[in-house]
Amino acid sequence: MPEKPYDHNQIELKWYERWQDAQFYKAEENSAKPKFYVLEMLPYPSGTLHIGHIRNYSIGDALARYKWMRGFNVLHPMGWDAFGLPAENAAIANKLPPREWTLHNIAAMKKTHRRFGFSYDWDRELSTCEPEYYRWNQWFFLQMLERGLAYRKKALVNWCPMCATVLANEQVVEGCCWRHEDTPVEQRALEQWFLKITAYADQLLDDMAQLEGGWPERVLTMQRNWIGRSEGAEIDFTLDPSGEPIRVFTTRVDTIYGATCVILAPEHPLNERLLGAEGKARAKAMVDARAGQDPGDVEKEGFFTGHYAVNPYSGEKVPIWIANFVLMGYGTGAIMAVPAHDERDFEFCRKYGIAIRPVIRPASGALAVEPGMEEAFTEYGVVENSGPWSGLASEEARRKMAALAEERGFGKAAITYRIKDWGISRQRYWGTPIPVIHCAACGVVPVAENQLPVVLPDRIEITGTGRSPLENVPEFVNVACPKCGGPGKRETDTMDTFIDSSWYFYRYCDAHNSEMPFDPKKIAYWFEIDQYIGGVEHAILHLIYSRFFTKMMRDIGLISNSEPARRLFTQGMVIAEGAKMSKSKGNVVGADMLAEKFGADTARMFVLFAAPPEKEVDWRVEGAEGIYRFLGRVYRFATRNVERIGQPAGSSDKKALRKLHQTLKKVTEDFETRWHFNTCIASVMELVNVLYAEEASIGGAALAEIIEKLALLLAPFAPYLSQEIWEEMGREGPVFRQCWPEFDAELAKEEEAEIVVQVNGKLRARIYASFGTPQGELEQRALADEKVQALMAGKQVMKVITVPDKLVNIVVK
Ligand SMILES: [Zn+2]
Ligand SMILES: [Zn+2]
Repeated sequence: MPEKPYDHNQIELKWYERWQDAQFYKAEENSAKPKFYVLEMLPYPSGTLHIGHIRNYSIGDALARYKWMRGFNVLHPMGWDAFGLPAENAAIANKLPPREWTLHNIAAMKKTHRRFGFSYDWDRELSTCEPEYYRWNQWFFLQMLERGLAYRKKALVNWCPMCATVLANEQVVEGCCWRHEDTPVEQRALEQWFLKITAYADQLLDDMAQLEGGWPERVLTMQRNWIGRSEGAEIDFTLDPSGEPIRVFTTRVDTIYGATCVILAPEHPLNERLLGAEGKARAKAMVDARAGQDPGDVEKEGFFTGHYAVNPYSGEKVPIWIANFVLMGYGTGAIMAVPAHDERDFEFCRKYGIAIRPVIRPASGALAVEPGMEEAFTEYGVVENSGPWSGLASEEARRKMAALAEERGFGKAAITYRIKDWGISRQRYWGTPIPVIHCAACGVVPVAENQLPVVLPDRIEITGTGRSPLENVPEFVNVACPKCGGPGKRETDTMDTFIDSSWYFYRYCDAHNSEMPFDPKKIAYWFEIDQYIGGVEHAILHLIYSRFFTKMMRDIGLISNSEPARRLFTQGMVIAEGAKMSKSKGNVVGADMLAEKFGADTARMFVLFAAPPEKEVDWRVEGAEGIYRFLGRVYRFATRNVERIGQPAGSSDKKALRKLHQTLKKVTEDFETRWHFNTCIASVMELVNVLYAEEASIGGAALAEIIEKLALLLAPFAPYLSQEIWEEMGREGPVFRQCWPEFDAELAKEEEAEIVVQVNGKLRARIYASFGTPQGELEQRALADEKVQALMAGKQVMKVITVPDKLVNIVVK
């Protein structure tokens, strides 16, 4: 039979049609098989998928298919993170209601998902903008409200005048809105809803021990830093001369004799009395200017208040300053500056000419000298120039000095965290309504559970200005107070969409439950997630919030696991032709174009082949063309050789089968360990090269095994092509529900030649090397042999004679 040309559209569209209604990917509800839950982060329905999405899904899909072939009951679901601002912006721009815009986009993206052949159990599909989903956001909110984990407070928030909404710190980029790069963010005080994630700060830290080895170390480090636990002490300096306490937090009370000023946050309440009009204006400007910035990054600025504070240990009077890098939300909003032993303080004090006074010397070394000190000495050491504490080691001084403060009533040991409670109020329409009613008589009254969901009204006017668009919908806002029956007003803020994604993976296990968020028994079977896959940009928000939700859900008795995912994989970015992809540059590589021009199989294999999955991938047309040619080679080899399967054995059978089993071994081991799919695919390419070189001398039985296993081997990466070859062989059923081909370790062993090593013609050693090992390498290995080295000691090598695959003779004098 003649070979067939590789026509990706003909092959892929055929199977796309045949697979439309098939239920191949349904997870089994009652199964004796071991379970495997593999999950890619759900996308925001922007309307189109691009190559970055394809990479994420191709990794997960390869793993899901491999696990199926390994006999697991696989859960591999997909859904839509469907609430959020872009739908509102699109509504303003196109006069299309957010719901319609969102549903339209979901339909388009789902079609692309199917075109790529991703193996999702679509029966479990969820969309976070549907009342049957978000009612459970509301239910969780009420559970937290009841337990004091949800509360309201007035707080300074980052406010983008363009979005007309509150931004999380992470949504502020260099003082501007993340969506509006030229719009400076302002600070406003608003009543907000908060979730008490700080109550779980220690657990979030401690449980990371369970994630070691399964999560990327850098994600754990980012989370640790985000939570930012510091052990230290709170100490009261006193305002001179009134004696009013000014509480500072410090992790190094042992350095307090080196404190040369006290610095207050610009929004510190004391400023109201310490500062005049000009000082207050400067402080306010500082607060606005740092909106959302990482305080570690800002240029340090400050000014002297004209007042002094008294050090409770030494009695010394030090000046009180205001500075932009001191935050009200961390510790007490006031610090003592010890420039000699803290880098940040050193930088600040040097800039403003404030004294620098060393009080800690290295355990084996001398105390630094005050002028001419080049940098802060931040390590522990021995305390000096510190009255009765001099001579103590830092650790001991810390302990004893905190104890004294406690005894005398001017301080105590304390722990502080960088993480703050999670502000979830958004002044937006397209999100989950917060289920409370405000009543003049009763205050905040929760909506009864049996009244959920509070449904988001449809078809409302969105102007993009002011507070929540819901404020302009009287039939939504005006309701009777559930408690007293008097006139009440519904909360018009909606929830941060990160709530939606904090628990969606639980809902997949029981997507259509209308009585509960999910049946706990189903969670007990499927959880924890065995492999979670997504971008590293979610390291601190989504991945901390969902860990928090898991602990909250455990504490209300719904689940028993403490962590959502056992293993996390963060894939690298995709760039295009060396540049970052962006809409404005017009270089976004769209998934639909990829499918049409190169085919889903080529696109999937390209993103897996072009780099290890954790590294950045650079999209190159030539790269995709290379993969396309390779798949064509596989296809043509298979189609022109299926008819030869009945033929007698050939002289290259052993060589071809050895290469086949070596490749199987390599791919299997990579799936089980480090997922270097790029090297897996490279090894399949090598195999195909060998097959081409030996083709004429490969016999029928070997061809049968080779073509079959090649189809199975490629099934996780290029499912369409594999299925087509499977059919060409006359085999039935989906290729990806066959057993994964086991490798034969004996067969995979490289045959080795025994090389005799002689010194001056006498047999001295034997070494083993693959047939065809180059002469130079054999010589080197022979010369490096221990016995040979011993014989050559003090002698000179005159000549080396090598017979490939047989002998190395070393002539010495
Ligand atoms: Zn904005
Ligand atoms: Zn009332």
